[in-house]
Amino acid sequence: MTSLSFEQLGLAPELLHAVKDLGFETPTEIQQQTLPVLLDGPKDIIALSQTGTGKTAAYSLPIIEHIDLDAWHTQALILSPTRELCIQIARDIESYTKYIHGLRVVAVYGGADIQKQIKQLKKGAHIIVATPGRMLDLLKRGKADVTTINTVVLDEADEMLNMGFKEDLNAILFETPRDKNTLLFSATMPPEADRLAKQYMENPLRITIGKKNAGSVNVSHVYYMVQARDRYKALRRLIDYNPDMYAIVFCRTRRETREIADHLMRDGYEADALHGELTQAQRDHVMKKFRLRNIRLLVATDVAARGLDVNDLSHVINIDLPEDVEAYTHRSGRTGRAGKTGVCMSIIHSREKSKLRRIEQIIKAEIVRQPIPSGEKIVEQQVLHFVERLRSVETGEGAHQALLPAVGEKLADMSREELIERLVKLELELLLKLYKNAPDLNFKEKRRDREERRPAPQRGNWAGLEIGLGEKQGMQAGDIIGMINRATRSKDVPVGKIRVQHSRTYFEVDADYADWVMEGMRKVDFRGRPVYVEKSGPGKERRVKKARRY
Ligand code: AMP
Repeated sequence: MTSLSFEQLGLAPELLHAVKDLGFETPTEIQQQTLPVLLDGPKDIIALSQTGTGKTAAYSLPIIEHIDLDAWHTQALILSPTRELCIQIARDIESYTKYIHGLRVVAVYGGADIQKQIKQLKKGAHIIVATPGRMLDLLKRGKADVTTINTVVLDEADEMLNMGFKEDLNAILFETPRDKNTLLFSATMPPEADRLAKQYMENPLRITIGKKNAGSVNVSHVYYMVQARDRYKALRRLIDYNPDMYAIVFCRTRRETREIADHLMRDGYEADALHGELTQAQRDHVMKKFRLRNIRLLVATDVAARGLDVNDLSHVINIDLPEDVEAYTHRSGRTGRAGKTGVCMSIIHSREKSKLRRIEQIIKAEIVRQPIPSGEKIVEQQVLHFVERLRSVETGEGAHQALLPAVGEKLADMSREELIERLVKLELELLLKLYKNAPDLNFKEKRRDREERRPAPQRGNWAGLEIGLGEKQGMQAGDIIGMINRATRSKDVPVGKIRVQHSRTYFEVDADYADWVMEGMRKVDFRGRPVYVEKSGPGKERRVKKARRY
C-alpha cells in the first residue's frame, strides 16, 4: 500500500496544524487504514491493534472532523477501561483540537468526584471519554445523554470485557441510537469481544495491524530459566546487567507486587509498587514518579498497569508468566512503542515451558532462552557503563571550576592509575561485593531430569498453610488439591503433606507458591463455604510432617 501524508488524507487545516505541532510526520499504519475510510463517512470498524500504534488519533481525528460545533449535544462517546487511559485520550483530543475553538471534550471516570464531572457535562460535551462504570452511573442519574451520538468507540475492548464491564457496556450501548457508527479497538479478539461486535456492528471493516494477535515487531522476547526460589536474585541480575533499564516488572498478585517492590527498594533500587490496594492519590503519586523517572522500575499487577501511558520503556519483565496467556501480549506491548525497540524478559521455571510455547503461538514470535548473566559479566557491563557516563560528563565552564585547584592539590600525590582504580572501586564496590563468588542461577537441564522424577521440592521448601474446615464439613485430602488447582488455575503447584482434622485442615505447598495459593484460595469456596487460608505456625507444621504425604 502506498502511504499517504496527512495532507493527502484530507484532514482539515486546523487538525493538520495541530498534528504537525505534535511532531507527527506521516500517519501510522493504523491511521493509514482508518483515516481515509472514516473521513469519507460512517463505517463500522474492528481494528486489532496494540496500544502504541497511534490508534487514538486513528479514531479521534475523524470524530473531530465530523463534530458539529454549532450543536451542543454529545456527538461521540469513547469508552475505555481505565481512568488513566480516559485522561490520556481526552488529553490527546485536546491537543488535536487546539486550533478548533469551542470544541468541548469531557473525561468522566470512577474514583473521582462525580459532582465535578456533572458540572463539566452541564457546560456541554461534544465528545465524552468515559470508563463504563462511571458512564452508566451518569446515564442513570440523567446527567449525560448519549441518545444523539453518531459515533461510539470501544477502546481496548478486550480489557473492558476482562475487567467485567460487559453488562455496563450493554446497558450503555442500549441507550445509543441504532444507526450510529461503532468503532472497536482491541489488542486481542476473545470470543466475548466477537459477540459484542456481532451484536452491535453492521458489516464492519476488519483491520489488523501486524499479524493477528501478534506483539509489536519492535519487541524481542527472551526468557531465563531459574529455580523458582531464585526468581528475585535473577531479577536483580537482569536489572544490574542493564544499567539504563526503565521498566515495568509484572507480578501476578498484589502481595507479590508489594514484596518485590519492597525488596528492590531495600536493596537500593529506584522502584515502587502499583497495585489495586492503593488509593487513587497513591496511584497517581507512583505513576507521576515513574513518568518523571524518579523511579525506574515499576512493579505492577496486570490490572494496575492498564492504561498506564508510558511510551519509552526499555524493558518489560515478567517475574513469572501471567496466568492468562493472552495477558502476555498486553504486558509485552508496553515496550517497543512509538517506533522504539524494547525487550520483554520472562523469568520462568522448568514447569512453565509448555506455557511459553503456547504464548509463542499467540504472539507468533519466538521467545529465546538467554542465560542469567554471571556476576563477572554484570560487573564488566557496569564498568563499561561507568566509563560511558564519565566520558559524557560535560566539562568546561561552571561553578565546579572554582573548586578544581583545591581538589587537584589534595590529589596531587596520586597517579593516574591510582585515581582510576579508586574511582572504579568507589563506584562499583557494593556491586563487586554482591557478585563476588556469585553462583550460577541458570537452571541446568540435567538437574531438571532428576527433578521431574522427584516432583516435590526438597525438605525445607514447604510452607505450611491451614484452613478452618475439616472432616466435620466433609473435607477430604483430595479436596485440598482440587481447591489449590482451582485457586491457581494450574496443576503446577507442588503440594506436600495434607492433614485433615475435625474442623481444620493443614497442608503444605512449595514455599514459592504459598502467596499465590493464599491469594487464589480467597476466591474459591468449599461446598458454598468461603475458604480462609492462613499461614500455619511452626508447632502445627511439625504435626503436619507426620501426616500422610501426597
Ligand atoms: P496510541 O496508540 O494512540 O496510544 O499512540 C501511541 C503514541 O504514538 C502516542 O504518544 C502518540 O502521540 C504517538 N503518535 C500517534 N500518531 C503518530 C504519528 N502519526 N506519528 C508519530 N507519533 C504518533
